[in-house]
Amino acid sequence: MQVLKFGGSSVANAENISKVAVIVSKAIQKEATILVVSALGGVTDQLIEIGIKAATGNESYKEQIQLLEHKHLETVRALLHIQNQSATLSWVKQQLNELERVCDGIFLLGELSARIKDRLVSYGELLSSYIITAKLAEMSLQPVWTDSRQLILTNEQYGNATVQLEKTYANIDSFLARHPAQLYVAPGFIASNDKKYTTTLGRGGSDYTGAIFAAATNASTLEIWTDVTGMMTADPRLVQNPKPIEAISYQEAMELSHFGAKIIYPPTIQPVMKKNIPVWVKNTFEPDAAGTVIQQHAVSNNDIVRGISSINKIALLSLEGSGMIGIPGFSKRLFEVLAMRNINVILITQSSSEYSICVAINESDALLAQQSIDAFFAYEIENGKVNPVSVETNLSIIAVVGEQMKSHPGISGKMFGGLGRNGINVRAIAQGSSEKNISAVIAAADVKKAINVLHEDFFETTYKQLNVFIAGAGNVGGKLLSQLHQQMQYLKEHMRLQIQVVGIANSKKSILDDAGIDLTNWKSLLDQAPEADIHSFVASIIEKNLRNSVFVDVTANDTVASVYGSLLSKSIAVVACNKIACSASYANYKKLKSLARTFNTQFLFETNVGAGLPVIGTLNDLLRSGDKINKIQAVLSGTLNFVFNQYDGTIPFAQVVKQAQEEGYTEPDPRLDLGGTDVMRKIMILAREAGEPMEMDQITNEAFLPASCFEGSVADFYAEMEKQEAHFKELYDAAQAKKAKLKFVAVYDKGIAKVGLQHIPADSDFYHLYGKDNLVLFYTERYPEQPLVVKGAGAGAEVTASGVFADIIRVA
Ligand code: ADP
Ligand code: ASP
Ligand code: MG
Repeated sequence: MQVLKFGGSSVANAENISKVAVIVSKAIQKEATILVVSALGGVTDQLIEIGIKAATGNESYKEQIQLLEHKHLETVRALLHIQNQSATLSWVKQQLNELERVCDGIFLLGELSARIKDRLVSYGELLSSYIITAKLAEMSLQPVWTDSRQLILTNEQYGNATVQLEKTYANIDSFLARHPAQLYVAPGFIASNDKKYTTTLGRGGSDYTGAIFAAATNASTLEIWTDVTGMMTADPRLVQNPKPIEAISYQEAMELSHFGAKIIYPPTIQPVMKKNIPVWVKNTFEPDAAGTVIQQHAVSNNDIVRGISSINKIALLSLEGSGMIGIPGFSKRLFEVLAMRNINVILITQSSSEYSICVAINESDALLAQQSIDAFFAYEIENGKVNPVSVETNLSIIAVVGEQMKSHPGISGKMFGGLGRNGINVRAIAQGSSEKNISAVIAAADVKKAINVLHEDFFETTYKQLNVFIAGAGNVGGKLLSQLHQQMQYLKEHMRLQIQVVGIANSKKSILDDAGIDLTNWKSLLDQAPEADIHSFVASIIEKNLRNSVFVDVTANDTVASVYGSLLSKSIAVVACNKIACSASYANYKKLKSLARTFNTQFLFETNVGAGLPVIGTLNDLLRSGDKINKIQAVLSGTLNFVFNQYDGTIPFAQVVKQAQEEGYTEPDPRLDLGGTDVMRKIMILAREAGEPMEMDQITNEAFLPASCFEGSVADFYAEMEKQEAHFKELYDAAQAKKAKLKFVAVYDKGIAKVGLQHIPADSDFYHLYGKDNLVLFYTERYPEQPLVVKGAGAGAEVTASGVFADIIRVA
C-alpha cells in the first residue's frame, strides 16, 4: 500500500484535479493506493468566514454559500463528461443545501461553537473527495470512497482533536479488508469522536490524515503532493533563492514544521516515523522532479544547517521575582497553569539565577495565559515574591535546524553575528541539548530580514546581497550609478557580491524598488517619480528593514548629513562623500563613529579627503598596525592645485577658477575651495582620524583671497575676482621671482593644524604636482625621514565615485 495526499492548491480546480488524476492513475499501476485529499484551495477559509458571518447576524453568508456552490458545480462540469455529471451535480447540491441549513441554524442562534465549526468545515473535504472520486471512476480506476469520519477516531477537542491511534488503525484495517480495491479515496482533515460528532485535526491536518492511513497500513511510502518542489531551506515566500532539500531526517522535518515551515503539518511525522515509512514531498505541477524524502537518516550533504523556519504571532511571557530563587516547583506550577488552559508552550528559557522564567506562546493565547498565571500566583504576587507576569506581543520565533549542528561549533555564533550586524534584537534564545535546533525570539517586523540574513549566511555561498540606497543623483551620483551598473556582474562572479540599488533620491524625488532599480533607466524613473524629500526617503529605508542595507550620501547637503545618526542606530551602514558630518563639531563626528560601533555597522567616508585616493584608509592602516603619526603635510585641494597650476597671468584668475568649476573639481560654491575652508575640513578630518579632538577654529588659515570676495553670491564672487586680478598676479609674480610654485598646503604637526599658500621650491616633494592632483605625506615613527606618500587625482566625479564605490564594497 502507498498513500498519496494532495493539498488544497493541487485540487483547487478542474484543471489541477485532472493533473492529480494522471498522477494517481500512474501510481496505482505500481501498488494499491489510498488517496487523501484536502478541500478545494481556499474553501476551508471560506467556510469559516461563512460561519462567522452567520453567527454575527451578517446575512451575506447566503451569497457566499451561493459562490461556494457555484465553484463546486463548475468544477464538476469542467471535470466530467456531460453524461456523467448529473449524479455528482445533484449530490453536490444536496450537500450545499445541508450546509445552508446548518448556517441558518448558526444565524438563528447567533453562535458558532467549536463543535459546529468542525461540522461546517467538514463539507470542504467531503465535497472535494467526492468530486475527485467521480473523476477517477470516469477514468475506470474503480475508486472506493470512504468517509474518514467513520475510520479516524479522536477525542472531543474540536478544532484540533487528538487521534486515538490504535482504534483508528483497527478501523482502517477492517475497512480495507472488507473492501478490497486498488484505489481508495478519503477526505483529509476530518474525523469523529465517540459521540459521533465530526471533529477536525487542525488547520493543515490533511497531511496528518495521510500519515494515519500510511501508518495504519504499514504503507511503503507516504507522498505529500503540494505546490512546491519539496521542502526547501527556507519558506519560498520569504527568501528569493531557497534551495531544495533532497533528503531530511524525520527529526529535522519535525523541528522545521514545529517552528513554522507550513509545508508539512507538524503531527504528520510522528506516526510514519514510528513505522519507519519514508515521506516524499512532491510537486503536483512538476511531477517528475524528485522532491524531498523525509526518512530516518538524511544522507548527509555538506549542509550543517538543514533549514530555517519562522513562526509569527508569538507572545513572550516573563515571570520574575526574587521569591522564585531556590524554591522548587515554581516552573512546574507555571507550566501546570498553562497546561490546564490548553496553552501550548513553544519555547522556554530560564536564567541561571532562577530569577526569571520566560516562555513563548501563541499570541492568541496571551490574554488567557496572563489572567490565568496572575490568578494562580495571586498569593505570591501580593507578597511581593513574584511580579505580575509581563506579556510582550508582536514577536516571532526564528529557528535554525540541522542534526549535524551538534558536532560543529560556531553555528550559534554565526547565527547571532548575522542578526547583530543587521540590527536585529534578540529577545530570547533557546537551544535544545540535542542541538538540532537553535531558536530565537525577535520582533515580528524583523522576521523577513532575519530569515534572509540567516539564509544568506548558511546557504547562499553563491553570493551575498547588498541593498544600496543612494542620496544624490548629480555628478558623482550619476557616475557612481554607472560604475555600479558596469561592475555588477563582475562583483557577482568574482566577489560573490550582489549589489542591488534599491533606492535613489535627489533633492526633489525618490524611487524605491526592493527588487533592484533598473540602472539602465534610473534617470527617467526618477523623473517620473512623485515628489519626496530626504526625510521620507530615510523613513522608507528604515521601514523596509532590508538586510545588509547601505546608505550612500553623494550630496554636499547639510540636511542629508543630519540623517546619518538615525540610520546608523538602525544598523544601516553609511558611506558619505559629503564632508559636512565629519567636519561639523567634533562631538557630532564622535557620536556618529560611536553609533556605528554600538550598532555593529559602518560609517565610511574615504572620499572626504583626496576623493578616490586611499588617504583615510592608509592612515587607519598605519594606526591600527601600531604606527604613530608625527606629521602630515598635504596638498588636499584638487581645485586649488588645478588653479595654481593653470594660472600664470595670461588668462585672468577668475577664468581659471571658472574652468575648474566647469570641469567639476570645485564645491558647488567655489569659495569653499578658494578660501581654504575645504582644505581646513580635510586636514581636520585627518587629525580627528589620527585621534585629535580638533575643531575648525583651532586651525590657522593663511587665506589668500581678499575679504571682499566672500561677499554676495557666487556670481558676485566671480565679478569681484576679476576686479582683484592684480592681487592674484602679484601672488604669482612673487613666487616666480624665487623660481617657486604656489601651492596651498595643509600641515598637521604635534596636534596643531594650519593651512595656507606657500612658495614651493624645485626640490620639494610638492613641486611636481600637476593638474588637480593631491599629495599627502605621512611622517610617522616607521616613516620618519622618507614619508609614506599618497599621490594622484584628488578631485573629479569619476574618481570620487570610485572611492565611494570602494567604501560600499568595504561595507560588504
Ligand atoms: P497544501 O495546500 O498542499 O497542503 P501548504 O500551503 O499547506 O500546501 O504548504 C505548501 C506551502 O508551504 C508552499 O507553497 C510554501 O509557500 C510553504 N512553505 C513554507 N516553508 C516552506 C519550506 N521550508 N519549504 C517549502 N515550502 C514551504
Ligand atoms: N482544508 C484544511 C485546511 O485548509 C486541511 C488541509 O488542507 O490540510 O486547513
Ligand atoms: Mg498543508
